[in-house]
Amino acid sequence: MSRKFDVVVIGAGPAGYVAAIRATQLGLSTACIDAWITPDGKPVFGGTCLNAGCIPSKALLESSELYHRAAVDFVTHGIGISDLTLDLDTMQARKDRIVRDLSGGIESLFKANSVMGLFGRGRLLPDLKVQYTPHEGESELLEADHVILATGSVSVELGAAPYDGERIVDSSGALTFDTVPKRLGVIGAGVIGLELGSVWKRLGAEVTILEAMDRFLFMVDGQVAREAQRQFKQQGLDIRLGSKVRESELTDDGILLKYDDEQGGHEICVDKVVVAVGRRAETTDLLDPLAGVDVSDRGLIEVDEQCRTTAPNVWAIGDVVRGPMLAHKGSEEGIMVADLIAGEVSEVNYDVIPSVIYTSPEIAWVGKTEEQIREAGIDYKSGTFNFAASGRAKAMDQDAGLVKILADAESDRILGVHICGPMAGELIGEAVLAMEFQASTEDLQRTIHGHPTLTEAIHEAALSVDRRAIHAINL
Ligand code: FAD
Ligand code: NAD
Repeated sequence: MSRKFDVVVIGAGPAGYVAAIRATQLGLSTACIDAWITPDGKPVFGGTCLNAGCIPSKALLESSELYHRAAVDFVTHGIGISDLTLDLDTMQARKDRIVRDLSGGIESLFKANSVMGLFGRGRLLPDLKVQYTPHEGESELLEADHVILATGSVSVELGAAPYDGERIVDSSGALTFDTVPKRLGVIGAGVIGLELGSVWKRLGAEVTILEAMDRFLFMVDGQVAREAQRQFKQQGLDIRLGSKVRESELTDDGILLKYDDEQGGHEICVDKVVVAVGRRAETTDLLDPLAGVDVSDRGLIEVDEQCRTTAPNVWAIGDVVRGPMLAHKGSEEGIMVADLIAGEVSEVNYDVIPSVIYTSPEIAWVGKTEEQIREAGIDYKSGTFNFAASGRAKAMDQDAGLVKILADAESDRILGVHICGPMAGELIGEAVLAMEFQASTEDLQRTIHGHPTLTEAIHEAALSVDRRAIHAINL
């Protein structure tokens, strides 16, 4: 006899595990299947985010930033360190411990919420049946009233630089280097390329990032992207735009990367290569052709605004569907779908999803860029404030960058907030809340911000929209 659940979730990343927990909170019997196995052979929940994405990358970003600041910045505070050392094994072990704690935490949350966590693979069959194949043992048929597909994404491979698991690696490989490469080549100056390039640069690698597009960070507001590019250049991060990798060759001296830009062909020789040219939806062996779930030409599971697939009572969320590949976007979709299954009213506000790039300075934004607003023909106004005039940023010795606010010229409603600067990823929270409440810049102007805090930069940028900034010259 097959086991029967109200909901079966396939995938326990931040989309799937959140959906499963929310579903049990709503009284639905729920199983959640996940196939992830750690390099040392242990099955774990948490998906890419916890095991090879958000969390390990941020752990290494934090450690490498501290090392870099101790090596370069402390001296300006009058703090001298005569024999600064780097113990990469300890740094990696700290990262692994954080990952272990958090993924173990999901197992505890499943137990506490009575989610039936199942390690192994799930495959959707017709008529809301799921074939569950544990890592060891026989397959089992599960029945469900609803199935949620949350199988996430995997790194895109590049024919010109195929992974060899040792010298040419994806982001997972770049999170586990056991020595600092002397020369690191990164293909792709997107979020992963910049974050992981920064980690190894701070720890002493000579980093060259090859980016196919001519424009730096095309998804970021142009003014903010230019400011970030200037900062990275000053830090010695060698970002070569318009550079398309044609071929790679393993030689005794290292990996020869051959690339073309508008000047012609070039070569660089590096010790390791990180390929970070995007991620694609993971649907390998997930869908029986008769299950009725359509997949787009780009490999994404087709869904409507509320994450319904083309098969009745089958839903899909997170990286495996359209929209930004971000953990919090997947989690919110998970909550929405669980709520909808339980008959509640729920939605995701796709216009107000924050993005953060955890470089130094950080880059964070929400809403529309100036380019998008112009293209939409909206009459708008804008205000900026440079961290150079922020007392707190000065005290932190991190005063590069700016806050930029864009608002509708007539209604004053905030359309977008873009930050490049210290703690931008934390600061953006205020802007997200303001936009969720459909605030105007006047609302931000009239909100009292603590002094001296970095949030004052948001206040001043809001004032600057109406040319009434106090700590800047209103041009
Ligand atoms: P995933 O987290 O990919 O989880 C899917 C799970 O499904 C996996 O465990 C997989 O093993 C499992 N699975 C797949 N197929 C099956 C099957 N057939 N049966 C059973 N299980 C299956 N996002 C942010 O918001 N902030 C960040 O700072 C950030 N940093 C990142 C850094 C890196 C290096 C990377 C690679 C990504 C980062 N991301 C970040 C993106 C983020 O990790 C993803 O957006 C997020 O993990 C997507 O969640 P998900 O649940 O849709 O999929
Ligand atoms: P991305 O889409 O951010 O960047 C990929 C970059 O590679 C692009 O700039 C693209 O132009 C470039 N590229 C593509 N093909 C190329 C080629 N042949 N040669 C040179 N450059 C090439 O993808 P990513 O950095 O791999 O990240 C994948 C996803 O993971 C992103 O969607 C992102 O949202 C998510 N992520 C988020 C965070 C975060 O939120 N902080 C961190 C890491 C990853």
